[in-house]
Amino acid sequence: MPWKLFHALRPRAASPFPQRSASPSARFPPTYIFCVPTSAERATELRRLIERANYCYYVLDAPEVSDREYDQWMRELRDLEEKHPELRTPDSPTQRVGAPVQSALAKVIHMVPMLSLGNAFDDDELREWEARAVRIAGADVRTAGYTAELKIDGNAVNLTYERGLLVRGATRGDGTEGEDVTVNLRTIHDIPLRLNTPNPPELVEVRGECYMTFDAFEKLNDRRRQDGEKVLMNPRNSAAGSLRQLDPSITAQRRLRFFGYAVAAAPGVRLPFTTQWGLLDTLESWGFPVEPHRRRCTTLDDVVSFVQDVEHGLRAKLAFGIDGVVVKVDALNVQDELGDVGREPRWAVARKFAPDIEVTRLLDIQVNVGRTGALNPYAVLEPVEISGVIVRLATLHNEALVRQKDLRIGDWVQVKRAGEVIPQVIGPIPERRDGTEREWHMPDRCPVCDTPVERDADQAAVYCPNVACPGRQLEGLVHFASGGAMDIRGLSYARIRQLIDAGLVHDFADIFSITVEQLVTLERFAEKSAENLVAAINAAKHQPFSRLLNGLGILHVGEMAAQVLARHFHTLDALAQATEDQITSVRGMGDIIGRSVATYFANDTTKQLIEKLRARGVNFVEPAGKHGASGNGAGSLAGKTVVITGTLPTLSRKAATELVESAGGHVTSSVSKSTSFVVVGGDAGSKLDRARELGVETIDEDELLRRAGAEPKNQ
Ligand code: NAD
Repeated sequence: MPWKLFHALRPRAASPFPQRSASPSARFPPTYIFCVPTSAERATELRRLIERANYCYYVLDAPEVSDREYDQWMRELRDLEEKHPELRTPDSPTQRVGAPVQSALAKVIHMVPMLSLGNAFDDDELREWEARAVRIAGADVRTAGYTAELKIDGNAVNLTYERGLLVRGATRGDGTEGEDVTVNLRTIHDIPLRLNTPNPPELVEVRGECYMTFDAFEKLNDRRRQDGEKVLMNPRNSAAGSLRQLDPSITAQRRLRFFGYAVAAAPGVRLPFTTQWGLLDTLESWGFPVEPHRRRCTTLDDVVSFVQDVEHGLRAKLAFGIDGVVVKVDALNVQDELGDVGREPRWAVARKFAPDIEVTRLLDIQVNVGRTGALNPYAVLEPVEISGVIVRLATLHNEALVRQKDLRIGDWVQVKRAGEVIPQVIGPIPERRDGTEREWHMPDRCPVCDTPVERDADQAAVYCPNVACPGRQLEGLVHFASGGAMDIRGLSYARIRQLIDAGLVHDFADIFSITVEQLVTLERFAEKSAENLVAAINAAKHQPFSRLLNGLGILHVGEMAAQVLARHFHTLDALAQATEDQITSVRGMGDIIGRSVATYFANDTTKQLIEKLRARGVNFVEPAGKHGASGNGAGSLAGKTVVITGTLPTLSRKAATELVESAGGHVTSSVSKSTSFVVVGGDAGSKLDRARELGVETIDEDELLRRAGAEPKNQ
């Protein structure tokens, strides 16, 4: 992480900690720069850094450093203390939860202390956690199984119910003592004021996470922007601040939500469950919302595959932030046996995801021309690593958004990358401005062909009206080759530019005439990469018609509309001959799409393009299995459960999955006895081992193509 990300902050509020200096070297005493600090010196320094970060994060709700940096410091300190136990002081942050309470709110002592969680940053660390637990409590840990829950990125609260009635609600605070936020918590509709059970326990504490959805967070920040107030950093800090308002009507406006996940009772009180899974069911029956994607796992392998599914699939679809999966030993008696160590239970661990938000510098705002001619601003960023990927550019959508977010060139900005979504600039950090930032304005000429731009009626979008604009042509080809359309692996933005510049490609059909001989004459193409690209292009000829239709980039026809039309008309020729009325009358289509599609196919240039594509052997048919047959089990892979592992020679993971599904099969992420076969590509890892262990059949890509009824590339 570059120094500059962390040293440019100015203090925002009086704090009991030394303020961060503008110079990176001032973060460590000068001697540290030239000689290695002793372990004791480093431990003291780490404690100071962590205490300050805790203060900003927990007390001010305004973190100054990224979670990744904080977690690295904690880990380094913990390692140092483990190697040198004499350095472990009772007040070390490794021994305490959160930060001491410093607000004007009344204090509450929790009946049972509220702990934090240990972290596992990868699957190996998760296995180490299990091995440690097995060393302490024996094989019972493994037979107990695990409950895996989403780790909601909010704030832990403690709700006290006496004879079923909510009497108190408190923040976690330092784990022993929190702040009394009862009146505020009462405004949250998710929290029952009375437990929905005829026999409530005499006295019980229900713990859970108070959080803010992305939508509520954005609306809150929009309002603050309009009112000229400071925008909030992220949903977690906003939820924390909202909870700790002195005026409950403000909390009520913030639309906080709650998920329950734990119950604590005084010793001797009998609770109606013996497992974590049962606890969650009980909470649900008492009237609490419980996060629905939880999974009961028999083995740690099941947990690992759940983590994969959540991190790379579910996470991007959720309406709220999560930063990992919490894994808990399921049986409560085994949990008791394992107990706690310091600030963490031994029976639970947070399997953390790579962070998806980072802070970096907005170096410039540039404009690209979309395939419809729309001018779209994008952010040029100081490169920053987010969830394992170096991010340099981020979308800014349109001019209005740049205005609304008040982004200025030179700003420090928060950038988010979730799943496969294009990185987005969340907003600036105005406190870091030093006056050198510049406002940005949309250019009045197309940056590619210099044609004067036009604005649409409501002035929201700006267009380049030149249909022959090379910028529009390039974007059209990029869309055609992209994952949602023809999915041609290796045909990247840069390569398409190269092919256009070399005069090899003028339209979509030209892509299918490219030869290895032509490619090897170009820069950065070796024999192997040229062969791979031609193989990928040939494989793309067999894509279903719906993908081709999406790739053509007809105005208003995106992925969904393309699928509906392909399902209805079945072939490109049938669609091309359909009248505007016939298209409009398809369920889900309307006048705008009907007119746009009919106009497109009536155009002479389109007709020539279609004939060129036909001559190159591009598929114009929607396979029978796709959408229809897969549902009623008629495809060649009907009823088969398939796992795909490693890098396949020509098909991307998405394309291979679709191929299986189009033939009626089902793709899962983990290998079990019920797996029909595993498709194995290069660098296959543990799934291949597992398949061999279980005697599950393994096949290669060519065999998959054959079984799915598609022609393998070398035939
Ligand atoms: P944590 O957030 O890593 O994990 C514990 C918390 O997880 C619990 O208190 C609870 O609030 C939450 N949680 C969510 N879903 C849960 C579930 N299903 N079951 C149980 N718990 C669940 O620990 P923490 O002590 O709250 O905070 C430490 C983390 O906060 C650090 O790892 C770091 O990421 C972040 N932090 C950042 C800064 C900073 O300056 N950037 C400073 C302090 C802390």
